[in-house]
Amino acid sequence: MTTPAPTQHALPSYLNPDHVGPWGIFLQQVDRVEPYLGNLARWVETLKRPKRILVVDVPIHLDDGSVAHFEGYRVQHNTSRGPGKGGVRFHQDVTLSEVMALSAWMSIKNAAVNVPYGGAKGGIRVDPKTLSRGELERMTRRYTSEIGIIIGPNKDIPAPDVNTNEQIMAWMMDTYSMNQGSTATGVVTGKPVDLGGSLGRREATGRGVFTVGVEAAKHIGMDVSTARIAVQGFGNVGGVAGKLFAEAGARVVAVQDHSGTIYREAGFDVPALLLHVKNTGGVGGFAGAEVIAKDAFWDVPCDILIPAALEQQITKDNAGRITARMVIEGANGPTTPEADDILQERNILVLPDVIANAGGVTVSYFEWVQDFSSFFWDEEEINKRLVRIMQEAFDAVWQVAEENKVTLRTATFIVACKRILHTRELRGLYP
Ligand code: GLU
Repeated sequence: MTTPAPTQHALPSYLNPDHVGPWGIFLQQVDRVEPYLGNLARWVETLKRPKRILVVDVPIHLDDGSVAHFEGYRVQHNTSRGPGKGGVRFHQDVTLSEVMALSAWMSIKNAAVNVPYGGAKGGIRVDPKTLSRGELERMTRRYTSEIGIIIGPNKDIPAPDVNTNEQIMAWMMDTYSMNQGSTATGVVTGKPVDLGGSLGRREATGRGVFTVGVEAAKHIGMDVSTARIAVQGFGNVGGVAGKLFAEAGARVVAVQDHSGTIYREAGFDVPALLLHVKNTGGVGGFAGAEVIAKDAFWDVPCDILIPAALEQQITKDNAGRITARMVIEGANGPTTPEADDILQERNILVLPDVIANAGGVTVSYFEWVQDFSSFFWDEEEINKRLVRIMQEAFDAVWQVAEENKVTLRTATFIVACKRILHTRELRGLYP
C-alpha cells in the first residue's frame, strides 16, 4: 500500500496570494527576489506566512462614561534571527493586511542592517486625535495587557511608529511591568531617556534617511548641498531628515502633510517650520509659504523626494510625474510595485524603506542593549555607530544591486532574505 502524498491545506483568506494592499505588495516583492535566492529558495514559503497573528479587542471607558471598543493587532512575521521587533501604530485606517506587511518589512529591515531580530508590528484601528489623554492612556494600557501574552524583552519588543511616541512607550513599559511584577525596561524601545530610553533614538530614523541619502548621492554624483528637496510627512522622520538636509545646504522647497501642501522656491526655514508643526500639529498655515494643491506636490521640481508618511503614496498614477533623481523612502511601503517599475524605467533611484528608514530600529537595538547592560552611551557614540551601520549596510546593498543588475529594493531583499532563510535552514524545522 502506498502512503498518499501529504497535502497542503488551502491558504486561509487572510493569506490569499491575490491579496491587494500592503500584504499583496510584500508578496510581489518576495516573488521578485525568489530567483536570486539559490538553494535557500526552498524555504521562501516561510516568508509568505507570518509566524503568529494576534487580533485583540480593546475596550475602554470613554470620559463620558460610555464604553468604546477598538481593534488591535500584533503580528510576529518571523523570529528566525531573534525576537520580534517593530513599532505600534495608532491610525484609523490600520488593517490586519497592513500590519502583516509592516511586520514582514521589519523582518527584511532588521536582517538588512543585521540587527539580531525577527520582524513584528502592531497597531490599533483608531484616530488617536479623537481621544483625550486619559482615553489614550487607557487604550494603550489595555492593548499592552492584551498583547502581553506574546511580547517581552526576549520575545517581541514594540516601539513607536505612526502616531505613537515616548509617552505611549512609557505607558506600555509600565503596564507590562505591572503585570509581570517587576520593571522590565527592555520590553519596548523608543522610551523617554529618563526611563531607559536611548539618546539619539528620536532622531534616529531621520538621521538614517539623511545618511543613506548622502551615501547614494556620492554614488550618482549628486551634490546634496545644492539639492532641492520635497518631503511628504513632516513628523519624526520627514522633519528630522528635512532638518539635516537643510543643515547640509539643501533647500527644502515643498512639504506636504495631513494639514496641507506648502511650497517655497527659496527653501523653508526648517527649524521655524518644525516649531510651527510642534505648536499647531501640521505644516498648514506656515507664514510665508505658498499653498499648493495636494496633487501638485508630485510635480514640484526637485532632486530628492522623501515620502515619509504612509503606504502606497507613489503609484502608477503619479510615478510618471516625479521629477526627482532620487526617492528616499522614510515611510514604510510608500511605493507600489508598478510605481517601482516606472521609476526604474525613468532612471530615478529609489532608496527603499527596508534600508532607508532602518536607522530607527538600529538605535532601538542600541537602546535594548543599553537596557540589558544598564550602561548608557553618550549621543556621539550612538550617532557614530548608527552612521557606520547605515553606511556599511547601504554599500553592501549597492554592491549586490550592481552585481545582479537589480533595483536597490530587490538587492536589499536579496541580502535580507538570504540572512533570514539561512538561519531558518540552520535551525531546522521543529519537531
Ligand atoms: N517603527 C519603526 C520602523 O518602522 C521603528 C521600529 C523599532 O524601532 O522597533 O522601523
